[in-house]
Amino acid sequence: SYRKGGYHAVRTGDQFAGGRYIAQGKLGWGQFSTVWLAYDTQNSKYVALKIQKSAAEFAQAALHEIELLSAIAKGDTSDDKFVVRLIDHFKHAGPNGQHLCMVLEFLGDSLLRLIKFNRYKRMELNKVREICKCILTGLDYLHREVGILHTDLKPENILLISTIDPSKDPIRSGQTPILERPEGSQNGGSTMNIIEKKLKRRAKRAVAKISERRASMGGVELTKAARTLDGIDMRCKLVDFGNACWADKPFAEEIQTRQYRAPEVILQSGYSSCVDMWSFACTAFELATGDMLFAPKPGQGFSEDEDHLALMMELLGKMPRKIAIGGAQSKDYFDRHGDLKRIRRLKYWSLDRLLVDKYKFSEVDAREFAEFLCPLFDFVPEKRPTAQQSLQHPWLNPTTSTQTETEKKPNVERVDVGMSKLQIRVGK
Ligand code: ADP
Ligand code: MG
Repeated sequence: SYRKGGYHAVRTGDQFAGGRYIAQGKLGWGQFSTVWLAYDTQNSKYVALKIQKSAAEFAQAALHEIELLSAIAKGDTSDDKFVVRLIDHFKHAGPNGQHLCMVLEFLGDSLLRLIKFNRYKRMELNKVREICKCILTGLDYLHREVGILHTDLKPENILLISTIDPSKDPIRSGQTPILERPEGSQNGGSTMNIIEKKLKRRAKRAVAKISERRASMGGVELTKAARTLDGIDMRCKLVDFGNACWADKPFAEEIQTRQYRAPEVILQSGYSSCVDMWSFACTAFELATGDMLFAPKPGQGFSEDEDHLALMMELLGKMPRKIAIGGAQSKDYFDRHGDLKRIRRLKYWSLDRLLVDKYKFSEVDAREFAEFLCPLFDFVPEKRPTAQQSLQHPWLNPTTSTQTETEKKPNVERVDVGMSKLQIRVGK
């Protein structure tokens, strides 16, 4: 992909925007871009430099992303919305063409790395709660104040932050930034290669060291953070607005990464901010269990989409007929009764049983977590709680809710609810 129209090749020490930013080491990459740790000489701090592929369609996408990120930054002047901040943007001419570049605040590892680091084991529920609060605060801001749908919410697109972030302060991070390329390292040749290699190693160390320091201060790089993970204040921000859209101008038909895709997207019934709430619930489940909730596969005689719909119904119950037959794709999957055409026998399993039986949650933890998640998995998109409503859920505010519960005198209604629940469980 490092050809005309593709990625821009970057070397440590390369300068951008007339020398303001200096590339340090590669942080990651996506379909459309490479992302570099860079040093901002104007503000003396580290930033993330996202360099888009140069072809027209990628440039177009980057312009759209810049438009959204600018709107997001504009309404978040106090930086408390848990969404990545755009600092600057510019064009960079290279051998493969003109690349649009975005300068973003430098964040830490993704939640996907956190899950992998935990070896796909379940994460302590209090940590999941903290992370969920950040994600929901971000979503609430995007949905209600900016009018944007993220449309690709998943652990990979949520990055950790730390409360004290020395990475923004090179002196406290103990890492001197690389400010220039050594003499003569521009072209090939054996001596240059040695310099080049040394520089590469130094860049790698720089990225690792900065990350490590952040870990000890509050939780980012995970290699050394193993022992300290318990005490970490888990906070994170939403990133990757490459697929995001204005709520009133949804453009792509197929949105979201497969496993986090809402049923109305599969059925092509139109979508709204409710799709982000579905992905959020899938993400919360994954954090709490270490497993993806829905991992559909095509099988003999049925497609991945059909398996996906079947998995959803096995866990959440039958889809209401009106919803099942209401989409542009419905006829491919459902008959007129609202039953799947090619997958007939479903094995029903409720979310709280799944949490107890497979993930060894205690009965109480399972019930409470399922009570939080289940409404978000409503097949009727408009019935899903909004981010704002979810933030009010007792599962996210456990101490306050227990307090009020004991403080309040029992009234008839409360007792009734308790008894009917008990009866249902005994009945089972
Ligand atoms: P794409 O749109 O090409 O998928 P992303 O915005 O998802 O690009 O970025 C690709 C990768 O770069 C991310 O998965 C992450 O590892 C890294 N990254 C992106 N933004 C930042 C940031 N602000 N701070 C640190 N790393 C980042
Ligand atoms: Mg991405």
